[in-house]
Amino acid sequence: MRVAGVSSASRSGDRGPQVAVVGGGVVGWAIAWRCAVRGLSVTVHDPAPGSGASTVAAGMLAPVAEASFGETALTGLLVASAARWPAFAAELTAASGTDLGYRTEGTLIVGLTGDDLTEVRRLGAYQQGLGLPVTLLRPSGLRDREPALAPRVRGGAFAAGDHQVDPRRLLPALRTAAERAGAALVTEPVGRLGDLTAPAVVVAAGCGTAALTGLPVRPVKGQILRLRAPGGGPPGFRHVVRGYADGEPVYVVPRSDGEVVVGATVEERADPTVTAGAVLRLLRAAVGLLPELAEYDLVETTAGFRPGTPDNAPVIGVLPGRPGVLVAAGHHRHGIVLAPVTADLVADLLVTGIPDALLAPFAPDRFDPPVGSVTGP
Ligand SMILES: Cc1cc2nc3c(=O)[nH]c(=O)nc-3n(C[C@H](O)[C@H](O)[C@H](O)COP(=O)(O)OP(=O)(O)OC[C@H]3O[C@@H](n4cnc5c(N)ncnc54)[C@H](O)[C@@H]3O)c2cc1C
Repeated sequence: MRVAGVSSASRSGDRGPQVAVVGGGVVGWAIAWRCAVRGLSVTVHDPAPGSGASTVAAGMLAPVAEASFGETALTGLLVASAARWPAFAAELTAASGTDLGYRTEGTLIVGLTGDDLTEVRRLGAYQQGLGLPVTLLRPSGLRDREPALAPRVRGGAFAAGDHQVDPRRLLPALRTAAERAGAALVTEPVGRLGDLTAPAVVVAAGCGTAALTGLPVRPVKGQILRLRAPGGGPPGFRHVVRGYADGEPVYVVPRSDGEVVVGATVEERADPTVTAGAVLRLLRAAVGLLPELAEYDLVETTAGFRPGTPDNAPVIGVLPGRPGVLVAAGHHRHGIVLAPVTADLVADLLVTGIPDALLAPFAPDRFDPPVGSVTGP
């Protein structure tokens, strides 16, 4: 192992783990798995693995629909990670024996009203300008693809490469694969990084990362709903459908087992309450796009916390002033889609000591004031 800043003396010892991963969400378990299959000895430290954002997430793998103005570096990373997903999913399915609910029908991005469609087209033009694969569609073309769409839908676009996975299948699969490859779970919280004795530490603690590192990672609340198709069958539509309904942004994700995920609010708050107003807005928007949802069972309302950063992009690399401590956090809205590239590049960095060029825009030292100036653990 040649992680930057780790002395050869500490590298040589074979007693104890070589890598301690703090956090058992999608990012931590994916890193643990990729490190373990590369022969590193790994422990994952988390008192409640899977209790963070990862099991709340919708599971959209959406580099096109999530491409936003002014975030071209992030879009590049999303595209790079989405391209790794087919092989990642196949390898993980084989390694864990788990069906991940990985689906490749693609995503329809739609506008209910004329104003909604203007917004879809404005974003579509930007996404096409970046060379991303998105095709504008008339209402008839949309309904050919998805007959369940409301007759009122004015038009939209198709992103064939924006896929989905079920995070509630993904997370146990990653844990199983990591443990089968030799990773071990330690169900205790990490109070200070100095308490860990492994020569390399990877902080993948989601919203808990700020307290451990001083990095500006904050909770961004998202309220999200889960419905179930009546009669125990699959939903009456196959694509991820997202877009705007009377100005309200919404996405609807159908799973083969009958679950439908409807999300999500984006709020600068850290309280876990689910509000009647948010449920009302999400359901009104979702039913506006797909009327049959009014007949579905409402089975779950949840609030989760995206680990957000000042520029909405993740923080991946060596922590300034802390040799041997890597961070992989702040994945905000994109932790599921970014899991493969994050895990592979962190494992590469640990093994070679050299950061991949893809990571340059996401280095932990990009924030002002510099992280090293923060008094922290
Ligand atoms: C409503 C909603 C919808 C989303 N939809 C999508 C989507 O469709 N697609 C997508 O790509 N992303 C989506 N996301 C974002 C995605 O969920 C996150 O980016 C991702 O889950 C972050 O993973 P993580 O492993 O970094 O953090 P988490 O899953 O939050 O895990 C962090 C873990 O660290 C542990 N921890 C914290 N502090 C400590 C400590 N001191 N010691 C030990 N352990 C600690 C916690 O117990 C937790 O288990 C969504 C998020 C939300 C909230």
